[in-house]
Amino acid sequence: MSHQQGGHISLSPDEGQIVQAITRERPMSRTELARRLSCSRAKAGELVNDLIGRGILEDVDTGRKTRSRQVGINHELGVVLGVDLGTTSLDVALADLGGRIITHHAEPWAVERGPQTTLNRVHEVALELARPFGIPVEGIRAVGMGVPGPVRFPDGFIIGEHFLPGWDGLIAREHLARLFPNAVITVDNDANVMAIGSMRQGRGGDVSSFVFVKVGTGIGAGVVVDRKLVRGATSTAGHIGHTCVDFNGPICRCGNHGCLEAMAAGPAIARRAREAALAGRSPILADCLKRRGGALTAQDVSEAAAQGDAASLNIIQESGRMIGDILAGVVNVLNPDLVIVGGGVSKSGYQFLAAIRRGILNRSYPYATVRLRIEYSPIADRVGVIGCSTLATDWLFEVEGKSLEAANAVGF
Ligand SMILES: [Zn+2]
Repeated sequence: MSHQQGGHISLSPDEGQIVQAITRERPMSRTELARRLSCSRAKAGELVNDLIGRGILEDVDTGRKTRSRQVGINHELGVVLGVDLGTTSLDVALADLGGRIITHHAEPWAVERGPQTTLNRVHEVALELARPFGIPVEGIRAVGMGVPGPVRFPDGFIIGEHFLPGWDGLIAREHLARLFPNAVITVDNDANVMAIGSMRQGRGGDVSSFVFVKVGTGIGAGVVVDRKLVRGATSTAGHIGHTCVDFNGPICRCGNHGCLEAMAAGPAIARRAREAALAGRSPILADCLKRRGGALTAQDVSEAAAQGDAASLNIIQESGRMIGDILAGVVNVLNPDLVIVGGGVSKSGYQFLAAIRRGILNRSYPYATVRLRIEYSPIADRVGVIGCSTLATDWLFEVEGKSLEAANAVGF
């Protein structure tokens, strides 16, 4: 496999439309591309031939007649790496530039091990994943990474102080650039990449506006309006976890009291479960607490709830209700078609989703919910890496100095 020099791949606006259609959807014939561009087939053919000449596209052998021959991204252009880092998990995947995940690895990981150790592990996993396919590190043309904290976009500056100790600044981006010398590096917030992943392959693909809510160690949301991710003035849109639920509540990682995150995310569920166990309200949790040496997790609580433990079910429903109450405000402001729930705590079963749904329906303006669907992500285990790979591809290509993602905003 030969590899081009690293760095962005520059395209004209017409070429950008072609590459975006193919990377987002599938290989297409010149006739179909002409229709997408509203131009003649001859013009589309000329653009495609230029892109083939530059090694960006290639003819795809579909065994059909020449007239309907399709073009796809040149497989020799390389692959992208998606890295979805959670507070307690690490997911790494290689994808082709057409958005298909080639191979995927997931493992438990503690983000507090710091950027150096974590990113060296990412590099190790990436090479292990690439080896069986004969892909050298230079073949990785772009890396997209999601991190569980606020990120200034697009420069990838991590505002880490409260959320990711040791991860401040451009440290992740710079270290990744050293480890993957041929790759364009893009870093974003984890809920944002999950929203992008849902737009690409999940339920968000067939609606114009939706909210992806990640409930894990923290709570955050990726907001999509008119098929575009909303990042806001300083890239913090969607940080619903820091909306106050109780002024007298426990202190949150952000420094305020009683934020949704401090009241309803995984650690809060675990804390309530411990209290229930110690107060004698749940024999199952008390048993579990003893076995685990004094600590419980949100997963222990969902397992106990699945066994019919009333205290556990109550804790999960209470968490879902608080999340639903806050989402009701989001629904009132945005009037989305869909709310998608993902993240580790979303594995807590139907009752958790039902409580979120009740919270939203009880608290929002009724007409805003007439068409609203509230669902778990059907691709929860890979939505993060799909989003990271999409982000990586979008930022590998540049149209007049803008990424495909930004170009999309100006009317592609
Ligand atoms: Zn907070």
